[in-house]
Amino acid sequence: MAYDPNNIFARIVRGELPCHRVYEDADTLVFMDLMPQSPGHTLVIPKIAGENLLDTPPDSIAAAMCVTQRVARAVKKAFDAKGIVITQFNGAAAGQTVFHLHFHVIPVYTLGGLGLHARSMADAAVLAEQAEKVRQALTAE
Ligand code: 5GP
Repeated sequence: MAYDPNNIFARIVRGELPCHRVYEDADTLVFMDLMPQSPGHTLVIPKIAGENLLDTPPDSIAAAMCVTQRVARAVKKAFDAKGIVITQFNGAAAGQTVFHLHFHVIPVYTLGGLGLHARSMADAAVLAEQAEKVRQALTAE
């Protein structure tokens, strides 16, 4: 399947759609997941076009992974999580629903306590508050 330049995340990168932004640099963008599996669920995406891990340039993946580590630390601290799950899906058969590479940073509070993938929309005000908490934890690093 060819990369669709109008997928949701490409439009967020171009500023055509809103997001609860946490962090941004030249290569990578970080924002809150709209349908979180747990409070604090954050997404890290390379800005460059690429459907998933299989077709994205390695340098962009490396940059995104470095940011993913920082975000995982910040999310753990900001939400006092017991653990952090990192997920990343490649292809619809694997569960991918948005076809622009992204890494999920999902805080875990209790064993087996994660919600279902991309099911229920979070409140916008809550997401805005959570984005601010992660931003603060990132700057305090
Ligand atoms: P995937 O299934 O592709 O691994 O994950 C896509 C993720 O994007 C899901 O967790 C879903 O909740 C999230 N998502 C879908 N649409 C939007 C959106 O418009 N904005 C944000 N911030 N997240 C979205």
